[in-house]
Amino acid sequence: MVSLRSDEPRLLFEAPTRKRVPVLLPRPFRGPFDYAVAPGQEPAPGDVVMVPLNRREEVGIVWDGVADNGVGDNKLRPITAVLDVLPMPAALRKFVDWVAAYTLAMPGEVLAMALRIPAMLPETPPVGWRLKPGASASTAARAKVAAALADGVARTTSDLARAAGVSAGVVRGMGQAGLLEPALLLSRPPFDRPDAARVGPTLSADQAAAGQSLRDAVTARAFGVTLLDGVTGSGKTEVYLEAVAACLEAGRQALVLLPEIALSSQWLERFERRFGVAPAVWHSDLGSRTRRVTWRAVAEGTAPVVVGARSALFLPFPDLGLIVVDEEHETAFKQEDGVVYHARDMAVVRARLSDAPAVLVSATPSLETLANVEAGRYGQVTLQARHGGASLPAVEAIDLREFPPERGRFLSPRLIAAVEETFARGEQAMLFLNRRGYAPLTLCRHCGHRMQCPNCTAWLVEHRVRRTLACHHCGHNEPIPPTCPSCEAPHSLVPIGPGVERITEEAEAVFADARRLVMASDTLTGPNAAAEAAHRIEQREVDLIIGTQIVAKGWHFPHLTLVGVVDADLGLAGGDLRAAERTVQLLHQVAGRAGRAEAPGRVLLQTFSPEHPVMQALIEGDLAGFMATEAEIRRPGGWPPYGRLAALIISADTAVAADELARDVGRMAPRGDGVTVLGPAPAPFAILRGRHRRRLLLKTRRDVAVQPILREWLTHVRATGTARIDVDVDPVSFL
Ligand SMILES: [Zn+2]
Ligand SMILES: [Zn+2]
Repeated sequence: MVSLRSDEPRLLFEAPTRKRVPVLLPRPFRGPFDYAVAPGQEPAPGDVVMVPLNRREEVGIVWDGVADNGVGDNKLRPITAVLDVLPMPAALRKFVDWVAAYTLAMPGEVLAMALRIPAMLPETPPVGWRLKPGASASTAARAKVAAALADGVARTTSDLARAAGVSAGVVRGMGQAGLLEPALLLSRPPFDRPDAARVGPTLSADQAAAGQSLRDAVTARAFGVTLLDGVTGSGKTEVYLEAVAACLEAGRQALVLLPEIALSSQWLERFERRFGVAPAVWHSDLGSRTRRVTWRAVAEGTAPVVVGARSALFLPFPDLGLIVVDEEHETAFKQEDGVVYHARDMAVVRARLSDAPAVLVSATPSLETLANVEAGRYGQVTLQARHGGASLPAVEAIDLREFPPERGRFLSPRLIAAVEETFARGEQAMLFLNRRGYAPLTLCRHCGHRMQCPNCTAWLVEHRVRRTLACHHCGHNEPIPPTCPSCEAPHSLVPIGPGVERITEEAEAVFADARRLVMASDTLTGPNAAAEAAHRIEQREVDLIIGTQIVAKGWHFPHLTLVGVVDADLGLAGGDLRAAERTVQLLHQVAGRAGRAEAPGRVLLQTFSPEHPVMQALIEGDLAGFMATEAEIRRPGGWPPYGRLAALIISADTAVAADELARDVGRMAPRGDGVTVLGPAPAPFAILRGRHRRRLLLKTRRDVAVQPILREWLTHVRATGTARIDVDVDPVSFL
């Protein structure tokens, strides 16, 4: 090594140009910026660096390729520091670029979902709280905190507040009052290694064969997608856990995506039975410390299995060997805010970039996935029968025209009789209505005035428990007024139609002796509420379960033999492309909760149109036939999955501004072979959260990529003032 004194001529030794590298920042910029490499630095793609941005220091990632924003070398600002932390894996960097290109989001916005800056930076010794010996809690809230610390393990303020179900202020107050004392948090490896060699449950021949084919896919270490389908209760989870076992044996990491991780206590128990330990869990409600620890463990490879919500796709797995998407048909996988993406589709991309297989799992696969199977792009493994000899429930319709409920009631005498017979046999029954609150509409019986949200094109929903009228779209809340706001008649407002609260009220009157449990997002709050509810049902402490779509989610209740669907027609209204498909999927999933053990199950659908193809498919149990018909309905018009769709939602503070921009956008609409633009038209929610909304749909042939067309289109229009254009590629919701 040649050492130079500073006064020696440097000409011969100086490189002709300064090195520059692109750095992507987690901010809404169109791409990376170039930064100069300072002497002694050797940043490689994926390295975490500190760089100046305006007058701040920012954390960024050295990106791939050459950025060259046209800034001369002499004007570049230097990288301040290359941090001594784990780099972002190449597969994740490619994924960020891919998601941004596909969804038309800014790469920096996508990067923000993949960065956990506190988790990446070197840790200061972790400090938490411990109960001071002899301290006594004077209030109920403080007693909860004391109880949460009873095991002697120190916890951070936020984790403690979460565990105790109190605000962080309560914890801080106790710290100030000297009831808590600071203590070091124990640092041990956060996740035990699941034991793949542990003997799992006995598999049927069908299951074993399916499990083996998924195992083979994992061992091949190559990308491929398999649809694992089979009726509800056929034991699909046990089958894909075989693939997870193979992944563990291969020393790679596995990711399982679940649509509603908060409702998956039974899934976690099954995992523990199979592998002896709990997996790492990832979702938005984790405490800050758990989040940090989990993120690092994933990055370091010490979290062998992660089960998570869609955001888990952006975790920094160094060696991902398998992705499973359970309940792949669920719309909860679509993220509608911020970067708009479909986690099922992006999971396939993530698997491809990691040379890993993806397994999509459902008893009611989406038409998109079925079309991919049909076209030979995806493989398929099917389980034919329910596990353990259980049979599928018998599904019957109750024609509400023929057997109407009593006036002002919603349960048909036939359904009531069936519920009572179920109780008489000592079995459990469930009433399902996919509608929160007491009544979906409140109107004045004098003047007919309907209570509408001031911010949205939506009716206010009465929540009787909370004594409010609420908007389910913007969160607007108001007390139920004593007089009609329009004609001022006193006590004239009446609820129209049923919500789950109203069905609960009716059930209280009709089944007075039954032990009832309501499962709805308004009643199951907090992370443990759903697990507790499930436990009470398993322990037969409950006769009647009344629930919204929460009850449809994969639960296994062995003593539940009757499911009554209060309004089977509910999902069919509205002009949504997938209304029928979704109704069939949801009702089939709900029906699948019945008769999962020895006793046979029965499902009753209350409907005004028993002849509707959706009801017929459920009654006949012919989902495949129904989906084939759905395909034939969509294929000729080139609707997804036989064509591509993207939505442009134009919104502004005023109707005039929204119309103006929508007209401009419409005027610049692309034309061409296989390209159609529908609209502009008012969006079904013409006003949402106070913004006026217009919608255009771009529809193309399947072999035409929508992104270049959208990009070109958007360069010709400018949103000014409060107006905005939001792009949704492959829209799922048409609201
Ligand atoms: Zn009135
Ligand atoms: Zn609203």
